Amino acid sequence: MAIVPEPVLVVGSVAVDAIITPRQTRDACPGGSAVFFAMAASYFAPVRLVGVIGDDFPDGTLEDLRRHGVDLEGLQRIAGGKTFRWKGRYHENMNQRDTLETHLNVFENFEPKLPASYRKTPFLFLANIQPTLQLDVLEQAGQARLVGMDTMNLWIDIAREDLARVLAKVDVLTINEEEALQLSGEHNLVRAARTIQGLGPKNVVVKRGEYGAMLFHGDDVFVTPALPLDEVIDPTGAGDSFAGGFMGYLARIGDLSGEHLRRAMIYGTVLASYCVQGFSYEAMDHLTLADVQRRFDEFSALTDFSRAKLA
Ligand code: AMP
Repeated sequence: MAIVPEPVLVVGSVAVDAIITPRQTRDACPGGSAVFFAMAASYFAPVRLVGVIGDDFPDGTLEDLRRHGVDLEGLQRIAGGKTFRWKGRYHENMNQRDTLETHLNVFENFEPKLPASYRKTPFLFLANIQPTLQLDVLEQAGQARLVGMDTMNLWIDIAREDLARVLAKVDVLTINEEEALQLSGEHNLVRAARTIQGLGPKNVVVKRGEYGAMLFHGDDVFVTPALPLDEVIDPTGAGDSFAGGFMGYLARIGDLSGEHLRRAMIYGTVLASYCVQGFSYEAMDHLTLADVQRRFDEFSALTDFSRAKLA
């Protein structure tokens, strides 16, 4: 039977990033949660993007997104405005980074507006933006089959009540390990995920950087490592690329059973592994579905074992 992927809608930041890693520096490269998500998801399903840019945003990036089939009708361009800018520095241990600068610019007054053609999109991802905006999008989007969201420590600190209102309405939360502990007030990851499930999302994906990710699906737990890489160029956007691979695969396959959620975890991990092998989305830009599938198969080999016979 032919696969007919369903569309995925992402709402999130579109940015110009400045990145400092221990070995290289880039002053201005395309970034933002919605861009990484869209690039990753585009390998599996048609993507619609809602976000905002100023007129300084590079046309080349918009062309790259279009080449990936990303629908940009929902991308607002503010004449005379400057795009959101973020600057980060990675430590020698690339799992750690400091945010050096955040300039909201046009993002400060962002009001997400879904074009009429986006309103019934079956797969919706609310990337990391202010929870009140995530709620606003949920109201405009109507009944999606699967709603995913991400968040960050800032919103847990300053907008916890609004965040709780969003959490009550979503099916999947993707969240970093430290943020899962912070949100739940727990010190143990399993207890943290169970507490978060109690706030709304039946599925909680805990992202653990180079240590992989965990899926809590109802009572089930699934664990995947990250791909062991001997060189990481730029980890920026790995979490959003993971979410893009995860949601994109589910939109392609249209089956939300536990078995496919587990596979979605691996496709998410595959896209995240490509993301970190270059600056911005460079290493994710020119893949084929066959490349993605090959790396998926490497994961099977990486984690394959059979039970020993002790007696
Ligand atoms: P990640 O590495 O997955 O945390 O994603 C990094 C991306 O998030 C960068 O491209 C940034 O432009 C973007 N970003 C950083 N801070 C924020 C923020 N406060 N709100 C929205 N996006 C952000």
